[in-house]
Amino acid sequence: MIRRVKMPPIECPEFRPGWVWLVGAGPGDPGLLTLLATHALGQADTIVHDALVEARVLALARPGAELVFAGKRGGRPSPRQPDISARLVRLAREGKRVLRLKGGDPFVFGRGGEEALALVRAGVPFRVVPGISAGVGGLAHAGIPLTHRETNSAVTLVTGHLAESGGLGVLDWPALARGAPVLVFYMPLKRLGDISRHLIDAGRGVDEPAALVSQAALPGQRVVETTLARAPADATDARIDPPALFVVGEVVRLRAGLDWLGALEGRELVADPLATPRGGIGE
Ligand code: SAH
Repeated sequence: MIRRVKMPPIECPEFRPGWVWLVGAGPGDPGLLTLLATHALGQADTIVHDALVEARVLALARPGAELVFAGKRGGRPSPRQPDISARLVRLAREGKRVLRLKGGDPFVFGRGGEEALALVRAGVPFRVVPGISAGVGGLAHAGIPLTHRETNSAVTLVTGHLAESGGLGVLDWPALARGAPVLVFYMPLKRLGDISRHLIDAGRGVDEPAALVSQAALPGQRVVETTLARAPADATDARIDPPALFVVGEVVRLRAGLDWLGALEGRELVADPLATPRGGIGE
């Protein structure tokens, strides 16, 4: 059954004209917005948003608010970062309440820091509202915990999108491979073959559990459970599209017990997934 949620009254800071709020919208589901993000949506004069922010979230905007799209669309190049920052400064100087809304958390692979520093340089006051990063909340939504006492006490978040800074070669792969039992790659799809090969060359097991999670916490969420070696081929076969995450490590096996969303559709959950021998992992 679907219920309409009535927000409890909470005290939120005033969204003052001439300010920029840099806000994380979470991985997708509007239910995963923070109360402060919802408050900002209801107050802003102008909302500058990415492609990752979906329509159901933007529908919470104050009627009459101006929506400005600042992301990639249809393969066309995205607006240049300095142009976005300059636009935020300009709008704030016009006396607007400017909401810069980004997918996930604004400071996780989202260039939020760059934009905030541009505001500092321009003397524009701002507030940062954290959001649930896809690599944390999106994976939880898909039934994969980032940490689990029996599998890992550390996790590494990595970007697979390093086109501008010299490619994946800039990463210290042996250190990454050794550093944490669980690795989560953002923007992995274009370089999945390289990521898999680098990790295997650096000593990670070919059979290590891995998963691709696309559109996490969105209606089109898809999860492909695979292995480190098979992941590139499986991603192609399954036609996994962005936005997607690639997670490597034993935590993926826990999904057999924690896929709560699958359980709603009849999947039988295993109470002790780590006791089951590896293999036999399906979609
Ligand atoms: N600031 C964002 C990340 C921006 S980089 C955050 O904290 O989540 C964009 C990448 O984030 C995508 O390529 C993908 O790897 C990941 N991502 C964002 N939303 C996602 C979603 N709903 N499902 C899967 N991956 C997502």
